[in-house]
Amino acid sequence: MSLAALAVRSRRMLDFVDRIGAKRSANTRAKQTVVVADVTLEQGRPKLDMSSVLPPRDKVGARTPMRCPICDSHLRNVLVRDLGGVTADLIWQLHAGECPDHGWFQTEVISRPPREVFAVDRPFGVARRVEIDGDEVYAFATVWNDVPDDQKRKRTDPFDPRYWKVRRQANRSA
Ligand SMILES: [Zn+2]
Repeated sequence: MSLAALAVRSRRMLDFVDRIGAKRSANTRAKQTVVVADVTLEQGRPKLDMSSVLPPRDKVGARTPMRCPICDSHLRNVLVRDLGGVTADLIWQLHAGECPDHGWFQTEVISRPPREVFAVDRPFGVARRVEIDGDEVYAFATVWNDVPDDQKRKRTDPFDPRYWKVRRQANRSA
């Protein structure tokens, strides 16, 4: 390959990474699909490690700090969908798991412990309503919400189970 061709190619690669960055910041699943299309249509066989922008990979039989927000049981049939990041230090995952008594739950990790655990109809499905003591609940706030801002900004292990506890359980054991 000539030097000129190489220069054009690397500039296109940088443009490509820029575009992904822009789309990433929009942070929606629809945009994710667009990025995947870019890789396939325009880039052919990209030289960068593009594994993170290929269709999401699901880890079956995975482990999660998430517990049932209603009874605090360990979840079964845990799935972790890795949405990855263009940069290696971005952790972006969906975790889903099933409580034998209370059904499926799901949460999203974006480099920090999750703020909410959602009740869903199936892994990576739509939110479902659960009823607790006559109240309708779709999402359970975690104690990560209660961490002071200066501590939130520090580097924190996003999988530290202390922060995954839902307020409901934390208040119960307090
Ligand atoms: Zn449960």
